[in-house]
Amino acid sequence: MAFYKQPCIHCGAYIDRDARFCPACGSHSPFGYLCPTCLRPVEKSQRLCAGCGRPLYVACPVCGGQTFVQEKCEQCGGSLMVKCQNSRCGAWQFFENTKCTACGAKIKHPKSGKK
Ligand SMILES: [Zn+2]
Ligand SMILES: [Zn+2]
Ligand SMILES: [Zn+2]
Ligand SMILES: [Zn+2]
Repeated sequence: MAFYKQPCIHCGAYIDRDARFCPACGSHSPFGYLCPTCLRPVEKSQRLCAGCGRPLYVACPVCGGQTFVQEKCEQCGGSLMVKCQNSRCGAWQFFENTKCTACGAKIKHPKSGKK
């Protein structure tokens, strides 16, 4: 039923409008951007999340460039997501998150020693 499908903003694949993630590229916000911390919808034109106040532009942990808080760096394409270490959860979380938005478990940051 093509009527109920909408293109993923990340890869352009047509997927169900109520899909929780894009089966083509794996994105968890196929129809728009979500704040990685409070999961409120956000726009690229915003500098701060209206829900939790976190900055929506961060330095990429891979290349150091400024990027929007999406799943991949705009500059180098590196992943900005880490997997929740709770083996029963395993949700992908934004690298700056200190708590998993799915299960609430603490996220460990192995590379936190150096700046
Ligand atoms: Zn996609
Ligand atoms: Zn937020
Ligand atoms: Zn980067
Ligand atoms: Zn989790």
